[in-house]
Amino acid sequence: MDFELPDEMVALRDMARRFAAEEIAPHARAWDRDGEIPLETIKKLGELGFMGVLVPTDLDGAELGYLGNSIVMEEVARQCGGTALMLAAHNGLCLGHLLVAANDEQRKKYIPPLARGEMIGSWCLTEPGSGSDAAALKTTAVLDGNEWVLNGSKMFITNGHRAGLFVVTARTSEESKTRGISAFIVERDAKGLIIGPKEDKMGMRASDTVPVTLEDVRVPKENLCGALNNGFIDALTVLERGRITIGALSVGLARGALEESLAYGKEREQFGKPLVAHQTIQMLLADMAMETDAARLLVRRAALKQDAGESSEMESSMCKLFASEIATKACLNGIQICGGYGYTKDIPIERLMRDAKLCEIGEGSSQVQRMIISRRLLDLGGK
Ligand SMILES: Cc1cc2nc3c(=O)[nH]c(=O)nc-3n(C[C@H](O)[C@H](O)[C@H](O)COP(=O)(O)OP(=O)(O)OC[C@H]3O[C@@H](n4cnc5c(N)ncnc54)[C@H](O)[C@@H]3O)c2cc1C
Repeated sequence: MDFELPDEMVALRDMARRFAAEEIAPHARAWDRDGEIPLETIKKLGELGFMGVLVPTDLDGAELGYLGNSIVMEEVARQCGGTALMLAAHNGLCLGHLLVAANDEQRKKYIPPLARGEMIGSWCLTEPGSGSDAAALKTTAVLDGNEWVLNGSKMFITNGHRAGLFVVTARTSEESKTRGISAFIVERDAKGLIIGPKEDKMGMRASDTVPVTLEDVRVPKENLCGALNNGFIDALTVLERGRITIGALSVGLARGALEESLAYGKEREQFGKPLVAHQTIQMLLADMAMETDAARLLVRRAALKQDAGESSEMESSMCKLFASEIATKACLNGIQICGGYGYTKDIPIERLMRDAKLCEIGEGSSQVQRMIISRRLLDLGGK
């Protein structure tokens, strides 16, 4: 077993780290304040291949696999959680679903512009009445001649404010809760697709989150994505993979908290010596470093399983659960180390903390991850 990254992944990490330090870090505070990532930055992310990181090269992607994706996510999140969440929803969820379920024609038509970063993607599973119990969704799709007619409401949709393409799950059969749902590709200009106002969130503010309403939205019959009534099963695969992305995002936030605390603690002196020379502070820093490394190893284990073509349901849940919880803890300890200044926006730790909390909620809360892991332990079956 080799814990060192292969040369091409080291090069990718260095490139992503440089880009994040030069093009994201200087603006992250303003994007958090203003609630928007400039389209120019998204274009640059596209040019680097980061908007198509999982997509095969013949569809204009960078084909870097889940290991490459986790490296990019960590580096971007280290500087701006919101930018990383925009990437996570675009790559992990929207493109993730297309890669799992789209047919050849749909792949050729929809994936390349998304992978090049010319269009942003959204994924619409959650509804006002169904979050953790996602299969209880109420949006419907009814076939009318050569068109599907969609009606319902979606909630907390990342990237929805500017997305050009939405993958929407809707009920197509009442016969089964989980095997009565299908996925549809909905283009932004579809009549009856109503994008609501941005949520005023605690964190991840650079990334937009909106409600999406579908009022008699008609899409061609061919826009069914995947097999009829298999949309929720495909969504579970999308989430199994997506959770590695959120795990990596969390590692980036935890590392950010550690690096910011170390830098501040070396400069700031109290009782005649730098903060980092006090043993109690050293204990906090040691735990942050250890837990960040452990989280990264869990993320890489799940990523390598996916890259080997294996299922990683339990590994994905473990990495997402552990990484998100230690990220929040690292950020809270980081604020403690930085004292009063850590509680201000002069140091980015308070932003990292607000961003980190989302990772314990989105793509399945910590409670849901524990349910998935324990179901496996008790041999109660997975998806
Ligand atoms: C910023 C942001 C971005 C998001 N982006 C997207 C997106 O792009 N697409 C999308 O489809 N969704 C998105 N979501 C939705 C997200 O996945 C849900 O918020 C999440 O799954 C939790 O659902 P909920 O908010 O409805 O909480 P609920 O399901 O109502 O849960 C509330 C609390 O109860 C707990 N709980 C629920 N059931 C149980 C149980 N059986 N046992 C114990 N505890 C339980 C939960 O863990 C949670 O702590 C986003 C959410 C946010 C906040």
